Amino acid sequence: MRVHIDRELCIGAGECVLEAPAIFALDDEGKSTIIATQDTREELLWAAAEACPALAVILETAEGDQVYPQ
Ligand code: SF4
Repeated sequence: MRVHIDRELCIGAGECVLEAPAIFALDDEGKSTIIATQDTREELLWAAAEACPALAVILETAEGDQVYPQ
């Protein structure tokens, strides 16, 4: 599972940080950024993605196929 943030969509709500603070943080612009590639357990990535009100947390398979949002 791979994750990235669509910074155009991110509104800085911080839900992803609350769900997975070891993976996401808000940067100087108040937008989410990936801070860790460790501990990227799928359940944490899914929780963060589903909590994001802007659908800005993008999940992809290792092959690069987008699985969320669909
Ligand atoms: S939950 Fe979504 S909108 Fe909020 S900071 Fe994270 S990526 Fe951005």
